[in-house]
Amino acid sequence: MTDRKHEIATNLTAVEERITAACEAAGRRRDEVTLIVVTKTYPAEDVRVLSGLGVRHVAENRDQDAAPKATACVDLPLSWHFVGQLQTNKVRSVVGYADVVQSVDRARLVTALSREAVRAGREVRCLLQVALDADAGGRGERGGVAPSGVPELADLVAGAEGLRLDGLMTVAPLTGEYAGRQRAAFDHLMDLSTDLRRAHPAANMVSAGMSADLEEAVAAGATHVRVGTAVLGVRPRLG
Ligand SMILES: *Cc1c(COP(=O)(O)O)cnc(C)c1O
Repeated sequence: MTDRKHEIATNLTAVEERITAACEAAGRRRDEVTLIVVTKTYPAEDVRVLSGLGVRHVAENRDQDAAPKATACVDLPLSWHFVGQLQTNKVRSVVGYADVVQSVDRARLVTALSREAVRAGREVRCLLQVALDADAGGRGERGGVAPSGVPELADLVAGAEGLRLDGLMTVAPLTGEYAGRQRAAFDHLMDLSTDLRRAHPAANMVSAGMSADLEEAVAAGATHVRVGTAVLGVRPRLG
């Protein structure tokens, strides 16, 4: 085993143990939570190592990096999640490899995703990214729709050809009323998910929690955690 493979395997085991412990503490089954490894800034070789270690979900946040990586790993049994702010001019490329777009946050993006999904003959699964700290009607600094905008955007995705509404995603805010209160932030997201499922029962994915706060997310009820640093190491500043 190479040093890098050994390092990733060790980190992955530690993260698996954290998720298992968090599930036990919350009285949840381990299979209720899916690990998505965020591979941004790391090379395709690391993605290959992860796949060999049994990882089935990876996430990227920049199309420029993700597109060639997904192409290099097209032979692997992986689901690709797009979790970054998405410009409409990148949508055609992203639809070429992404199984799930977790950062849907505005109507224009829904229109573009739908058009390109139909064109590619694909179904793209969508999560609405919620900015828990955004003012009504606005969007978060790091993207995301304000909580009050969720129902309308959800209906738009659900009615769009080529798209499937799968649920909600958030990144715990670093500032504002939820700063340092990840559990409260994730509880709020769960409430929004409960409301969403009244209108869209199948949209039951809740993507929350990263390296620093996956325990809080699992405790709140997240179905998917997105972990980068804790598996692959601290990234260079970019990304
Ligand atoms: C980078 C990133 C993650 C992973 O963050 P870590 O702290 O490295 O685990 C999760 N979600 C999104 C949207 C990200 O951009």
